[in-house]
Amino acid sequence: MIAGYIKAENVSQALEALDSSQPMARILAGGTDLMQKTRATRQKKNNDIVFVDIKAIEELKGIRREGDDLIIGPAVTLDELMHHEMIAAYAPDLIKASGYVGSMELRNRATVGGNICTKNPAADLLVPLLALNARIEVADLNGRREMELAEVIDGRFKGFGRRTIITAIKVPAAETLITGYRRWTQKSMGRSYLTAMVVIQPAETGKLAVKIVMGGAGLWPGSFTEIVSPDTVKNIEKRKTFCQTLVQDKLGAAANDDTAYRKQLAWVLIYEALEIALKGVK
Ligand SMILES: Cc1cc2nc3c(=O)[nH]c(=O)nc-3n(C[C@H](O)[C@H](O)[C@H](O)COP(=O)(O)OP(=O)(O)OC[C@H]3O[C@@H](n4cnc5c(N)ncnc54)[C@H](O)[C@@H]3O)c2cc1C
Repeated sequence: MIAGYIKAENVSQALEALDSSQPMARILAGGTDLMQKTRATRQKKNNDIVFVDIKAIEELKGIRREGDDLIIGPAVTLDELMHHEMIAAYAPDLIKASGYVGSMELRNRATVGGNICTKNPAADLLVPLLALNARIEVADLNGRREMELAEVIDGRFKGFGRRTIITAIKVPAAETLITGYRRWTQKSMGRSYLTAMVVIQPAETGKLAVKIVMGGAGLWPGSFTEIVSPDTVKNIEKRKTFCQTLVQDKLGAAANDDTAYRKQLAWVLIYEALEIALKGVK
């Protein structure tokens, strides 16, 4: 049952409330994921939960520019994110990714921080945030620190939602990147089965640095970068071979699912994401 509800007014208050109510305390943001899990948990174990609501904390709201970074508050809803001009200008793939999450009603309530912390590899913001080199500012009783999103994913979000609060998501915005994004699901409005995003940047003398991020159901998002000659990705046949070889070499073992179907889909999505990105390469 719901054993308690605390509405925090600031981050320190939230951290203290979380600490004093462990092991029952959980951060509540939009609640679209947590409420479902709470019901499932109650049916199974009948354990109590104390919600620490962070939605009203002013510091965790809003989107702004600070130096070379876009700062996204974790309490920003997906709907707000999708309609923000700075996101449209510097990180439009976040808009595409958010648009896939549930329904309009859900996006009106669901938050960016909540999406990152659902501890689900198919959470839609993970792939584009990883591709854009996002950093995560977190707070716990030891203070504040910044982590690379890749590091947070590798640590599987240990402590997040219980003792650790995301206080900001920082997305580099010094330049508009050349990107391509593709997501595939098995059913309409379903979770991502597989998502691929590529970021293309100029590398040493005439070459291109191609960063590829893949994630989805059962596949924690991960990235790798290949330095290639432009012809390797611009020529249709070479691009196909490039994508197929990548999937075989890098994703085959990591995919947790070695069916021909999954591998086939993986190279096709990378191929299509590259095709989208290449439109921006002069
Ligand atoms: C019908 C339905 C369809 C859905 N479809 C999708 C989909 O297609 N793609 C997708 O990605 N998700 C989907 N979801 C999952 C979920 O709605 C979203 O991921 C949403 O963004 C979660 O945000 P929230 O604010 O509601 O999180 P909450 O439910 O409030 O919290 C989720 C988790 O994050 C923790 N948390 C929240 N904020 C913070 C913070 N600042 N710091 C640390 N921990 C925090 C909470 O403690 C909790 O563990 C779906 C859910 C439903 C019910």
